[in-house]
Amino acid sequence: MYPQVLPFVLIHAGCLAAIWSGVSWQAVAICVALYWLRMFGITAGYHRYFSHRAYATSRAFQFILAFLAQSSAQKSVLWWAAKHRHHHLHSDTAQDVHSPRHKGFVYSHLGWIFYRQHDATDLVKVSDLASYPELMWLHRLELLPAVVLAGLCFLIAGWSGLVVGFMWSTVVLYHATFCINSLAHVHGRRRYVTGDDSRNNWLLALLTMGEGWHNNHHAYQASARQGFYWYEVDLTYYALVALSWLGIVWDLKLPPRQVLRNEHRLGSRVVKQAAEQLAARFDPEHIALAIRTSIHETELSVRDALSLLQHRADLRQSATRSPAASRIAWRKPGRSRPGWPAPIKRPGSPHPFAEPREGAACASFPSPPSKSSKKGPKPCPFRSRTGTRGRPVFCRPRSQPRRRRKNTFSRIGRPSKRWLATLSRWEPLRTARSSS
Ligand SMILES: [Zn+2]
Ligand SMILES: [Zn+2]
Repeated sequence: MYPQVLPFVLIHAGCLAAIWSGVSWQAVAICVALYWLRMFGITAGYHRYFSHRAYATSRAFQFILAFLAQSSAQKSVLWWAAKHRHHHLHSDTAQDVHSPRHKGFVYSHLGWIFYRQHDATDLVKVSDLASYPELMWLHRLELLPAVVLAGLCFLIAGWSGLVVGFMWSTVVLYHATFCINSLAHVHGRRRYVTGDDSRNNWLLALLTMGEGWHNNHHAYQASARQGFYWYEVDLTYYALVALSWLGIVWDLKLPPRQVLRNEHRLGSRVVKQAAEQLAARFDPEHIALAIRTSIHETELSVRDALSLLQHRADLRQSATRSPAASRIAWRKPGRSRPGWPAPIKRPGSPHPFAEPREGAACASFPSPPSKSSKKGPKPCPFRSRTGTRGRPVFCRPRSQPRRRRKNTFSRIGRPSKRWLATLSRWEPLRTARSSS
């Protein structure tokens, strides 16, 4: 832990000193004014200018912006910009210094600033800023602007001015800024695919002068405007536009039309991150099962469709060949016989899904059978289709009545004379006859 946690805790504890100093209206006015003024310093200075160079300004106003931003006691503009550029480079990956996804909400909100490894400033990342000696001077004396402002507050409104005017507004500023690192990556809507968890949060946008449109910002970081539509209130941008009318700032960068339409090309890093995010959401076991099931079902339906097509083609062919084919009988679906495998039941579907059976009327054949032709059983023209045990199927015309088995002989065949003669000579039978 970095020892700087102590001043951070002290300024929070210092807010309680209002019990003794009292809360004057003058101090409250200073608090509100300093909150909005320094919030502008943070968003227009630290963030949009120093981190993203979203607009251009003079060297004098650049220094004023840096001084105003650093009066919020959030370290130097160089440190802030370096950390923020790093955040955009590795948003919500393991390298991100403040990602609620990897390190938890509290760490991303304020825990990370107290770690010693985050104290150093990577000047390579902010080489464009490090070339200004006045910014380097502010970098070395990073707390000077805050101390000067605190002194001014004390001079204007006494202890109440220091505690309420300076400390209260500084603490609220801390947490409003930190919410962009934590809450704006957790709660809100996502309009753009950015490969990270950045979100648009209207409440944060109102409290932080437009910084809450964080998903917009991650989608197009170079823009001076973060509320991309008229209904996305972005107070910092309005102030920057007013300053541009005065000629203080210029070259305000705006999102291109493709970005506004959400039709812009995504970078390879964003695509890779988004793909990884998407892949992490799925359970591979579940996907494997779903694929296996769908392949099986497709196989079945393809087989059914093929057999239906084959059957229809056969019917058409046989109808052209002989009219008798119109009386070909097939087994109806859904009927079962003891000892046979149960037919496949599909309500509404024609019988080709069922196994063909000898002697059953064809349900789906288009032309009605004629009553005049009463011929004996004919081999079914669909002999290519085989019965349950692989035997060819013979059908009967539909008009012909079903053959009934009348006695045992019809099943086993009429006994021959020779067999009957042999039977009559059989000793037990002869004895039985003579005794009766
Ligand atoms: Zn972010
Ligand atoms: Zn940014």
